[in-house]
Amino acid sequence: MDKMSNVPEYFGCMVFNETVMKARLPNEIFNSLKKTMEEGSALESNVANEVAKAMKEWAIEKGATHYSHWFQPMTGITAEKHDSFIHPIEDGKITMEFKGKELIKGEGDGSSFPSGGLRATFEARGYTAWDPTSYAFIKDGTLCIPTAFCSYDGSTLDKKTPLLRSMAELDKQSCRLLKLFGKEVKKVTSTVGAEQEYFLIDKNLYQKRKDLIFCNRTLFGAKPPKGQELEDHYYGAIKPRIAEFMKDLDEQLWKLGIPSKTKHNEVAPCQHEMAPVFTTTNLAADQNQLTMEIMKKVAQEHGMICILHEKPFDGLNGSGKHNNWSISTDTGENLLEPGNTPEENAQFLLVLTAIIKAVDEHQDLLRLSVASRGNDLRLGGDEAPPAIISIFLGDELTAILESIMTGKPYDKKAKEVMKLGVDSLPAFPKDNTDRNRTSPFAFTGNKFEFRSLGSSMSISGPNVIINTIVADVFQEFAEKLEGAKDFNLTLNELIKETLNKHKRIIFNGDGYSSEWIEEANKRSLLNLKTTTEALPYFLKKENIQLFAKHGIYSEEEVKARYEIQMEEYAKLVNIEVKTMLDLAEKEIIPACIKYLKEISESEKIIGSSNCKAATSIKKDISKFIDGAFEQLNKLRELKFETQKINDATQRATTYTKKVIPVMNALRDFCDELEKKIPSGYWPFPNYAEILFRV
Ligand code: ADP
Ligand code: MG
Repeated sequence: MDKMSNVPEYFGCMVFNETVMKARLPNEIFNSLKKTMEEGSALESNVANEVAKAMKEWAIEKGATHYSHWFQPMTGITAEKHDSFIHPIEDGKITMEFKGKELIKGEGDGSSFPSGGLRATFEARGYTAWDPTSYAFIKDGTLCIPTAFCSYDGSTLDKKTPLLRSMAELDKQSCRLLKLFGKEVKKVTSTVGAEQEYFLIDKNLYQKRKDLIFCNRTLFGAKPPKGQELEDHYYGAIKPRIAEFMKDLDEQLWKLGIPSKTKHNEVAPCQHEMAPVFTTTNLAADQNQLTMEIMKKVAQEHGMICILHEKPFDGLNGSGKHNNWSISTDTGENLLEPGNTPEENAQFLLVLTAIIKAVDEHQDLLRLSVASRGNDLRLGGDEAPPAIISIFLGDELTAILESIMTGKPYDKKAKEVMKLGVDSLPAFPKDNTDRNRTSPFAFTGNKFEFRSLGSSMSISGPNVIINTIVADVFQEFAEKLEGAKDFNLTLNELIKETLNKHKRIIFNGDGYSSEWIEEANKRSLLNLKTTTEALPYFLKKENIQLFAKHGIYSEEEVKARYEIQMEEYAKLVNIEVKTMLDLAEKEIIPACIKYLKEISESEKIIGSSNCKAATSIKKDISKFIDGAFEQLNKLRELKFETQKINDATQRATTYTKKVIPVMNALRDFCDELEKKIPSGYWPFPNYAEILFRV
């Protein structure tokens, strides 16, 4: 039998997981490590040494020669620096060594990672520290140890640390809340299943387009005669070349213990999706980072390029990431699962109410947690959730909440009124489907699906926000309820009042419609269309206080992150501008002029009075070439001006307000030219060639 056909046997074979730990560590060492993992207590050095030894032996058996502290700097991708296990001894020989201290802590010269001013260059070094709750794994012959990355004064320089902090805070406040319902649980964790969308295109075609190479998206491109209007790609039969890729991808992910579960075609041609089975949030974040990396690698092996950009092709759907989020206890209870008894439902409705309040109060944080140059091109298009944050609950659940708020029957026929703590929830069809799929934050039966994430981003940032804002309301609710004389009465009042105050965030209609934009405006919901509009909310006093209160980010850490994101945005647009100028100036306009020359010569030979078409085409094309040329010059000048602006916020905002409109204008002229010029003259592969060839 083909070795790879036995999935249960090789699933997770490259992961130093609990089964391996248990098998390879002495009992007391395993128990001590387990305690550290569960309680976050410090790892003692003798334990660390034993774990390191076992890890090394296991890794060497699997062919590893190096180890690496694998971390997630604020760039949103992962970083690794490889050290080999070799240790010279006498006679020019070596042994393979790996000590506890090398496992626990690494020194990294992180001076080239963005720190947003958190680190002066003279103390550029930071350190990485093992997160024992994330499993070590082997990738390309290297033992990768998931770590947090900090500066020497302890400021976080990565995406993992704040995520762990937010999970700890949610744990603490959830336990407190559950206690009020008579439940003693040891641990509550947030869980995430991140559905990942991506494009696959042919490598040879990709290499002919500088915009794809430098920007991961096309900066030019007229719509092909056929796009996605027939909806014949969505869930369609998977082509053999893609199927081969998906099979390989699954195999590699499974070896790394990533439970890739679902694969299918997406709406746009060449667009696909992979969904894993959900897991603890920090593991989900690690796994999603690895998934993105492996998707790119496997695609190359199949002569393709995996594009994770949010909007690779204008006029076609972009790619996102659906962040399915819930909270569960160590006793196996999902706090977002509607229950069967009145008590269970009072608890469910309290949790739901808390989330409604959290989302309404912190629309700004949720919105900015998904802000990026790429996602600006997607959010608010006709295929992605709008930039306005709202919650979908489905009609049945909304009717029940209405009944609580008003005291009027939720079931008009049966005249039933919802009484909390007395009534069970009526059996309502769980709206697992949310058919219109236009809501950014949708309740899907036993979890919330945050759909605004861009396909290329780390899921850590958005989950830090969700965990923190929910923990904050849990804390507030716990404080109110802990002192209550009459628990049920206070609970009823609290839910009723809170819902009435925050019901504006609930919207079950079509989020893509223009009516919703108007309605949202009437409800005073935020509509932050661009990254540069959204990011400044990070610095709002209330938000800085919120993060400080829960120990997620210090004020300096917030400011650093803000600076880094503004900088990154400005850099990305600047690369796009430079690539556009290059393509327009050196490829598109010369190609058009060449065609113009051809026509002019033909016109001369034929005689203009004999062929009116030649003269007319010549005039028409000249007009568009001149139009493009004018925008090109404008853009070049703007680029110089904008680059000179020192302040990151001002520079980024200038890109949004002044530069991007000119980029769009230049593109419009060039796309028109593309439609007018015979394809043999066009300097690079067009949309139709790229999208319908794989
Ligand atoms: P869709 O209909 O959006 O395609 P599915 O119902 O197939 O989605 O599930 C989407 C994702 O939600 C999967 O990754 C799944 O593992 C995840 N999921 C299911 N239950 C939970 C939960 N309790 N917490 C977090 N994610 C969950
Ligand atoms: Mg989904």
